[in-house]
Amino acid sequence: MCGKQHLHFTWLLALILLAACSFHSSRPTPTIVPTAAPAAAPTATQTAPTSPRRLTSVQITVTVLYTNDEHGWMDGVSKGQGAAHLLGLWHDKEGYTPDGPFLILSGGDNWTGPAISTWFQGLSMVEVMNAMGYAASAIGNHEFDFGLDILKTRLSEAHFPYVSANLRNKRDGSTPTDLGIQPYVVVDVNSLRVGITGLTTYATATSANPAYLKNFTFKDYEAALREIVPQARAAGAEIMLVAGHACPEELVPLAGRIKDLDIQFFGAGHCEQPFSKQVGDTVILTGRSHLEGYAFATFEYDPSTHAVGILQYGINDNQGGAEDQAVAEIVARWRKTTDTQLDVQVGYLERTITRSSSEIRTLIVESWLIGYPTADIAITNPGGIRDDLKAGPVTLADIISVMPFDNVLINVKLTGKQVTQVLNTAASPVIGGLHQQGNNWVLNKTGESLEADTTYSVLVNDFMYNGGDGYTLLAKSDPNGYNTAINWRQPVIDWVKAQNSTPANPLDEAIQSLSQTP
Ligand SMILES: [Zn+2]
Repeated sequence: MCGKQHLHFTWLLALILLAACSFHSSRPTPTIVPTAAPAAAPTATQTAPTSPRRLTSVQITVTVLYTNDEHGWMDGVSKGQGAAHLLGLWHDKEGYTPDGPFLILSGGDNWTGPAISTWFQGLSMVEVMNAMGYAASAIGNHEFDFGLDILKTRLSEAHFPYVSANLRNKRDGSTPTDLGIQPYVVVDVNSLRVGITGLTTYATATSANPAYLKNFTFKDYEAALREIVPQARAAGAEIMLVAGHACPEELVPLAGRIKDLDIQFFGAGHCEQPFSKQVGDTVILTGRSHLEGYAFATFEYDPSTHAVGILQYGINDNQGGAEDQAVAEIVARWRKTTDTQLDVQVGYLERTITRSSSEIRTLIVESWLIGYPTADIAITNPGGIRDDLKAGPVTLADIISVMPFDNVLINVKLTGKQVTQVLNTAASPVIGGLHQQGNNWVLNKTGESLEADTTYSVLVNDFMYNGGDGYTLLAKSDPNGYNTAINWRQPVIDWVKAQNSTPANPLDEAIQSLSQTP
């Protein structure tokens, strides 16, 4: 372990050497400013501790700018935090220029989110990311949300590659390149050959619609990287970066186990928790999701010794720079298209109902039962509810933002016993058509207790029916579940419309009455 004194001595040495070599090189040498010990603030820039391989001659630098879990928030979760402001911030704060020594990477989950992206199945977000100059993206679990045909189309529209070391075809263990996914790429930045690969979370197997995943398998991260990184090296990679749609808790021990692969950078994702840590010569970083933040790392490379050093790294909030005009214009155009197509008012709400409220849950499952009256019970997964329904006019776009996934309703036949099992085994399901009286479940429709041996008609969404979020009992109990082909939002839209709500007669009371058991 290196003490602080040692650190400062090494910096001094590095400065002297840099000053010396600048006489012999026309290449602009990086400015290295020794800084005080990193502050504890989460957005602080950290200067790398002493590397055992400090560089001694002409250096090439490259700075990685990394976002993850963008989820289509091109327009910003808050005003001034969208894609155009982030690119502007990179110009202002990081000195980013499209032709400069920069690489913009994404940790995946690019598309599913607010209507401006989801309604167009990510097409708009691909255009934004193209304009921002992304160099590569991981494949996240949500890249599967719109099915394989759309995934393939989106990847073909992206001007940058999508990489995954561990997403493989089940039949032969190969990378699904037919979808446009690469095991790795090697790109040139500032005369440096940079190898980039990705990781796709194991959780994809249960958090994406399993129907889209039946032909794929997720190889162990370590085994996958041990296979792919040498291939990237053989293809000329001088430094190695991983865009990981995997959580920091997984990547930190992984980085410790594969130090011999000499990977300089792991971007994390999926867990949506800002994180910054150095393990040996590797940094593991993830900024805030939804374009509310980013991570950065600057590396220097010595072509004569092939040594790589980390100059600085950290995470920053997207405080919003001067808007990049080109990106702002694209976002504005999609905003306008979204508004025209979806700014159709279907109701009016006096008070916001939050995404985790009982009101929004009731609204969804009870409206299914109203729209599909032959069913007795409705069950949905809380993870599918993604946004608040805000006070004021309720539009189609608002409902899509609450339920961004393109699910359909499946009608399954379950015995009372199986219903109880589903309710007890899956994580806090949202239930409609049933209420509890003491220890008993009682059907709202009949007022009768749920009987273990009686068969009931139950509505679920196809994501759950395919085993998503651990709801494996559904298809096991009824392998012949009926696909109604009804989009899971449609009954909600229909019910909201039918209330004819206005500011004088808002939806709030009608939603309350939905939850009142007969
Ligand atoms: Zn994810």
